[in-house]
Amino acid sequence: MTDFEQFWQVYPKKLSKIDALKAWGQMKKRYKFDTDKAIAVVEAQKKSKAWLKDGGEFIPYAGTWLRAGGWENEVESKKETRVCANCESKDVVAGDGRRWWCKNSECRRIVRGY
Ligand SMILES: [Zn+2]
Repeated sequence: MTDFEQFWQVYPKKLSKIDALKAWGQMKKRYKFDTDKAIAVVEAQKKSKAWLKDGGEFIPYAGTWLRAGGWENEVESKKETRVCANCESKDVVAGDGRRWWCKNSECRRIVRGY
């Protein structure tokens, strides 16, 4: 599989492939960006609010994304806020698996992830 095909496989909007391929070739030649990085950014953006909104209506065409230097996008990772069900402290830390610990010294409950 070519680099482009790998990218195309993960890109959620499968429209105007020929244009995407053209953009891929041009941008690759000019910026020599890393294919894995581009794929990682796409994967992260797929989980972003903007791309999930309205069934992906706001996802740009791959060609547009590439010409805009999409692989450089900084994707904000969703920060999940957990609250201790016992003392309502927000000071909880990730433990193993899906367990979280409440750091309140008077509480120290295990907070279940959800
Ligand atoms: Zn607590």
